[in-house]
Amino acid sequence: MINCPLCHSTAQTRATRYLTDGSKEMDIQCQNIECSATYRTKETVCRVIREPIPPQMQH
Ligand SMILES: [Zn+2]
Repeated sequence: MINCPLCHSTAQTRATRYLTDGSKEMDIQCQNIECSATYRTKETVCRVIREPIPPQMQH
């Protein structure tokens, strides 16, 4: 979760929307009542660290 870029307080997800299998957008609201900024973040899988185990290797 990305903190508020304006006041750096913690924030809470309000809505999530999948764009593709590896990325989604989230509407985030700042939890600082004096700020309450709402912003949109994008979360993306940047790299597969380990490929799935091929089926013939699973025993
Ligand atoms: Zn804020």
